Amino acid sequence: MEKDYKIVWNNCLGIIRDTLNSENLFNTWFRPIVPLQLEDGVLTIQVPSSFFYEWLEEHYIDLLRKVVRRELGPKGQLRYSVVMDQSISDNQGNVLLPSTGRRAIRNAPKDVPININTENLKELPNPFTIPGIQKVKVHSQLNENYTLENFVEGECNRLARSAGYAVAENPGRTAFNPLLLYGNAGLGKTHLAHAIGIKTKEKYPDKTVLYVTAEQFSQQFREATINNTVPDFMHFYEMIDVLIIDDIFVWEGRVAKTQEAFFHIFNYLHQRNKQIIITSDKAPAELSGLESRLISRLKWGLSADIQAPNVETRIGILKQKLANDGIEMPYEVIEYIAYNINTNVRELEGALISLMAQSSLNKKQITLDLAKQMIDKFVKNTAREITIDYIQKVICDYFNLPIESIQSHTRKREIVQARQLAMYFAKKMTKSSLAIIGLQCGNKDHATVLHACKTVTNLVETDKQFRFWVDELDKKFRQ
Ligand code: ADP
Ligand code: MG
Repeated sequence: MEKDYKIVWNNCLGIIRDTLNSENLFNTWFRPIVPLQLEDGVLTIQVPSSFFYEWLEEHYIDLLRKVVRRELGPKGQLRYSVVMDQSISDNQGNVLLPSTGRRAIRNAPKDVPININTENLKELPNPFTIPGIQKVKVHSQLNENYTLENFVEGECNRLARSAGYAVAENPGRTAFNPLLLYGNAGLGKTHLAHAIGIKTKEKYPDKTVLYVTAEQFSQQFREATINNTVPDFMHFYEMIDVLIIDDIFVWEGRVAKTQEAFFHIFNYLHQRNKQIIITSDKAPAELSGLESRLISRLKWGLSADIQAPNVETRIGILKQKLANDGIEMPYEVIEYIAYNINTNVRELEGALISLMAQSSLNKKQITLDLAKQMIDKFVKNTAREITIDYIQKVICDYFNLPIESIQSHTRKREIVQARQLAMYFAKKMTKSSLAIIGLQCGNKDHATVLHACKTVTNLVETDKQFRFWVDELDKKFRQ
């Protein structure tokens, strides 16, 4: 006569518990398992989700094999049956993020039998076809101000922006899955990520879009672990059509379990052509603090970088912010700000806001002088140096030359001279290397820059008119 399946499983649990030596792990991964039957040496157990199964397979398969064979003999086998959970919802039917103390109601088991006799486990195709999940409303957590229309396009973000657009038009169906947006702080990653979410929602109102920061995600996972609600957590994320995870780099070198859970969610969604969008401060290859298999997944789609905007884009961004707020400002002031703040868009916006605040608090007109005073103050805190762009602009204005002439290949004397002056002042007033200065002043090499600096120094000593120009320009830069 076959043994009673409950007794068999209980015996297994006893050994597992002793072996694990952690009440927490035992409660998380074994307590939720329900024994269902024992037939012909095959013990069927019910697990709450596919993730659960995958987790057991990866972490506890040796242990399970050992205990099952010990109880049932060398031919003993284990079969899994997977249950779909119902999502956690509030009384309006909105799904809440899985969080403290809420448990899902388990449905009657929908059996998806799989034989995980471990000999041939690796050959198993994904055995789960999850039965249709009830469509529920998830709050997307999108910031409605961060639209694609508000996201000014420039060379610095063209690839990322157009990939974002393509993804929103066709989520999960382009080669850009995952879409990884990377770049330094304040360059618009979060804005663009929201914008893609918003655009997707406009085109596909039925799709479930979710924006979550990597920090929130790991926080939720930690809570789920403490509350034994990891399966609910997983199910919640498995329902998402477009998942946006912001600032994934915060996981570097920590939260290994979170990374693992995300890896499973990633695979689950990716296999089902769901879109994943991730932002980071570095390209995947440089995210060395993340689990390597996760990094390899991040490389599957498109990694699009966002660079610091050039001066035209900075002007475009400022104009757009002003237009959105219905505020007018003299063009020379906009230019002044754009030329002088070149670090990132957040600082650019900060300068604009301070200037508007200054003017309204002190009831002063926004003039170039006010802008200069304010930017000096603003900039002192951030230890800004004068930019090469700005140097070029002042020199071109002074000699009444178009700014593009510096970049041109012309050998006209006055333009060559303006270019040399730009190089000279860039060397004197910035920390940029000769190579960088050359690159920005008409794509010249460092030897040309060095030569320019010598020429200017010589001319200052020998040519009165030239010395006058240099002194005048010097004053302008120091104002
Ligand atoms: P990141 O996430 O890369 O640190 P954010 O997305 O938070 O940067 O952007 C910082 C600020 O700059 C936000 O207010 C954002 O709206 C603005 N911003 C960034 N890039 C652009 C752009 N191309 N057009 C308009 N605003 C931008
Ligand atoms: Mg951000």
